[in-house]
Amino acid sequence: MKSLKHLFGIADLDREQIEYLVNLGDSFIDINRRSLKKAPTLRGKTVINLFFENSTRTRTSFEIAGKRLSADVINISASTSATKKGESLLDTGQTLAAMQPHVLVIRHSISGTCEFLAEHLENTAIVNAGDGAHEHPTQILTDLLTLKQAWGTPEGKTITMVGDIAHSRVARSHLLAAKKLGYKMRIVAPRTLLPAEVERYGCEVYHDFDEALPGSDAVYMLRVQSERLTDSCAFPSIREYHEAYGLNSQRLKKAGDDCLVLHPGPMNRGVEIATDVADSVKSHILAQVEHGVAIRMAVLAALCGGDGGDDGKE
Ligand code: ASP
Repeated sequence: MKSLKHLFGIADLDREQIEYLVNLGDSFIDINRRSLKKAPTLRGKTVINLFFENSTRTRTSFEIAGKRLSADVINISASTSATKKGESLLDTGQTLAAMQPHVLVIRHSISGTCEFLAEHLENTAIVNAGDGAHEHPTQILTDLLTLKQAWGTPEGKTITMVGDIAHSRVARSHLLAAKKLGYKMRIVAPRTLLPAEVERYGCEVYHDFDEALPGSDAVYMLRVQSERLTDSCAFPSIREYHEAYGLNSQRLKKAGDDCLVLHPGPMNRGVEIATDVADSVKSHILAQVEHGVAIRMAVLAALCGGDGGDDGKE
């Protein structure tokens, strides 16, 4: 298998690498459930989490993942970093890299931030924890681990993704993963929240949620990315959005009994998802959160050579 130097997005991974990371994540689930949640895998390694956008799940799970594998983990958020004093992104990146961390985990509102920094920082592995509307690879690996637990393999299954496809990095990464792993994506969105030429990803496009549900094996609900919306008229009102594109238990019946419900969080209850679905047995949303820790352990281990491979660093 091609070794991993950075993790920028699903676009750069082949099927073997995706499956390798998901399987490695699978092997870490157990550590998280033990009473003694510590393994020496990343002892002596340093991970810096640099977050320029808000995050609960991703930031916390990268921190827990590093600590469970015995790495030294440092968290920096935009509000406490020197960018507040006018320092450029590149200067911040170079400053942190000069402290010799093994991994820099970055979340930023600008697409391509990780690739840009990687060009300038030589000895630091970079992980994309979400860059603008571009990619969110560790979320998709997390979802794939959740689906592996539920189905064994996603191959041949149909995932119906609903909501703000245009601004969602989660949607984009899934569309790329679906092609590589052989699952089908149905996309449901109002025309105002669909990216141009989305069909080039090989997905089916629907504007009517109810039409897309029969035959779906999973329904994946997305939050409206209000922080990335420049057009305040993307839909008439929250009430109408919920009526047309919200998931409630009544609507979910159209998909059949075994259909799973996924959401990357944070959920907006009463907007894209109703409480009767979010808290139902069909919801795998908290399983996604749990698997998020295991996947981030896998990604850090793979990048630091703690997976049994060798990263060439001491
Ligand atoms: N947590 C996901 C992300 O960071 C989804 C969301 O924010 O709605 O992209």
